[in-house]
Amino acid sequence: MTIIRRRYRINGIVQGVGFRPFVYRQATALQLSGWVRNSPAGVELELQGSSSSLDSFDRLLHNETPPLALITSCIRSDIPTGKDSGFAILASSSGEADIRITPDSAVCDDCLRELGDPADRRYRYPFITCTNCGPRYSIITGIPYDRPLTTMAGFPLCPDCLREYENPLDRRFHAQPIACHNCGPQVELRSAEGIPLATRDEAVLEAIRQLKNGAIVAIKGVGGYHLAVDPANHAAVARLRQRKRRDEKPFALMAATLGAARTLAVLSKAEEQLLTSPEAPIVIVRRKGHTLLSPLIAPQNDWLGLMLPSTPLHHLLLGDNFDQLVMTSGNSSDEPVAYDDQDALRRLEEIADCFLLHDRPIHIRNDDSVLRVFQGVPLFYRRARGYAPRPTPLPFTVPPLLATGAELKGAVCLASGSTAVVSQHIGDLQNRSTYDAFVHTISHLSTLLEIKPALIACDLHPDYLSSRFAEETGLPVIPVQHHHAHMASAMVEHGLDGNVIGIIFDGTGYGTDGTIWGGEFLTGGYDRFSRAGHFRAIPLPGGDAAVREPWRMAMSYLYQTIGEDAFTCGHPVTTQLPEADRPLFAQLLRRGINSPLTSSCGRLFDAVAALLNIRHRVSYDGQGAIELEAIAEGAVGDALQADGECGYRILSAENAPFQVDFSPLINGIITSATSGIPVATTALRFHQTVAAATTEACRHIAEQTGLTHVILSGGVFQNRLLTEMIYTALTNGGLTVHTQRVVPPNDGGIALGQAAIAGRRRA
Ligand code: ZN
Ligand code: ZN
Ligand code: FE
Repeated sequence: MTIIRRRYRINGIVQGVGFRPFVYRQATALQLSGWVRNSPAGVELELQGSSSSLDSFDRLLHNETPPLALITSCIRSDIPTGKDSGFAILASSSGEADIRITPDSAVCDDCLRELGDPADRRYRYPFITCTNCGPRYSIITGIPYDRPLTTMAGFPLCPDCLREYENPLDRRFHAQPIACHNCGPQVELRSAEGIPLATRDEAVLEAIRQLKNGAIVAIKGVGGYHLAVDPANHAAVARLRQRKRRDEKPFALMAATLGAARTLAVLSKAEEQLLTSPEAPIVIVRRKGHTLLSPLIAPQNDWLGLMLPSTPLHHLLLGDNFDQLVMTSGNSSDEPVAYDDQDALRRLEEIADCFLLHDRPIHIRNDDSVLRVFQGVPLFYRRARGYAPRPTPLPFTVPPLLATGAELKGAVCLASGSTAVVSQHIGDLQNRSTYDAFVHTISHLSTLLEIKPALIACDLHPDYLSSRFAEETGLPVIPVQHHHAHMASAMVEHGLDGNVIGIIFDGTGYGTDGTIWGGEFLTGGYDRFSRAGHFRAIPLPGGDAAVREPWRMAMSYLYQTIGEDAFTCGHPVTTQLPEADRPLFAQLLRRGINSPLTSSCGRLFDAVAALLNIRHRVSYDGQGAIELEAIAEGAVGDALQADGECGYRILSAENAPFQVDFSPLINGIITSATSGIPVATTALRFHQTVAAATTEACRHIAEQTGLTHVILSGGVFQNRLLTEMIYTALTNGGLTVHTQRVVPPNDGGIALGQAAIAGRRRA
């Protein structure tokens, strides 16, 4: 038998995830000698033995890696044999670290089994964890990833825990956050006034009793606070709505088990896999018609935001006690989620009846991730807990850089070499505390990743706080056009280079001509883009006010379509202002005062929602569009009468981008009401018209340019109905269509695109 020796250099997420014990176990079982150690770039190992044993090891390496590990590269080389005494785990080699920070992960099955086992020493311990599960990103304070540099630093290991920590064959070998009843964090229940009511298991049991009685309980989770309430208790849900000052936005539900989730919603295989994954996101799923839950959970909505328990504490709370709980983020209306204990007690005092706290600090806020399944893959609305800060490979190398994102749904990106890391969702950069979180995230993430930016990418909009931040750093700044960044972001995800067609539909983005863009047909790549066409720009009366009051946009479309008749036609949108203010508003439209031009697709949805009297005013971003989609879905499957009329015109001009004009559609919508056509039918026809216009425009570009890859990005592509129509039509037409699956299509994905464009420009 010939003996060979092989060296492996493995990169990726391989530290702090039980990788060395895994290698140790496999090597010992296969009677291989050698060693393994953490290295600056990942893990290094040498193995010696028979070639069949080494082949078996290679198979295991690829098929049975620990659940949280992610191998991005593995370089193997045969080297001369040497002398070992068995197999050893060696101390880490020194040098500059290239540590990949692991995202927070849901409790694993092994820990869950111990949690429910009265004979286990961690029976009902709310912070049970091991190398395969538990908090990571939210508790890491610095690098190297080691207990003193986590928020577990204040909890020295007891002798029992230390024995597990030091044993290479134990599931808890070098698991930094491990603890037990004797040495670890503890929970505590406090009244709204902050008075201690109970501790340890009694606190959990008392919280359950309070929830059963209809109380609103603020619960400290992994990346922030939740507000929990019994969804079957209508009065309690109503109280939460009123106290949270959140009139209509749906509340997320946490179901105790997958079985409980199935009674609430119709779940596909992909949806079930996401719900039960270690990332444990909120998945938006189609709810079942009749449940005994309060209708106030998701008013006017056929969809439900659903998640499963992700922490041991969640399991203890739900268990056999509740099939589901409302678990909405711990904040009031538009503020960011509370994560600091003092801050939470102060800010949630008016909302919560009591607090279930614990003494393991959260170092960085990390909201629940929210996504939906599109074509069998995730489509993110919000990317945070479980996913951030996982790296994304770039199709080329870039110098160390930071991209600051846009303004709404802020997230930043740090990149270096051929890797980009997009931060967790930070929030809308429109108030002080979100801006502070933005600054903190940048400094924290650049420390953890050891990336010292040499340049900064930001949005072209000069007034965004994220753009001003970039200016103030004094580093070279590369401003990137908003929709170009959306396009590049999806290109990175799909490893595309070269030129593509970008169909970018969103609410707002600063254009290179100073107008507001948002219904864009682009062509190009990372280096440059051109605007092939766009929705016809119309005035946005009152600027930002029109975003909160879609009736304004409806008036603008009416005026554009039927002129002066818009003021006398008697449509309900004309009566949204007090009588006395109407002449002034009419002047605003006639003269375009305080009415920047916009080609925004999001605003078109707003206008149509208002014209159909679905929503004249909105209480959250995108509400009009979401309800319009929900209503349109009600007509899917109905045989629509073809009225023989096309709802749009494509206006082309010499040496200028083409324009898609929706005046015929608006005309049709105005008359639909008087001719007794159901709102659902008109809403669906609207979706079909936008899809038809988009498809025709895109095919036209494809014919002229020969480009075959199409990107769909921008917040409008959270609309499933529209996305599916466009996706299907373009795919059937022989084009290759790419949607976003790693970062959100909304502005939460912008930073990744900015990073790629700026990095390419500099390189
Ligand atoms: Zn575990
Ligand atoms: Zn212990
Ligand atoms: Fe955008």
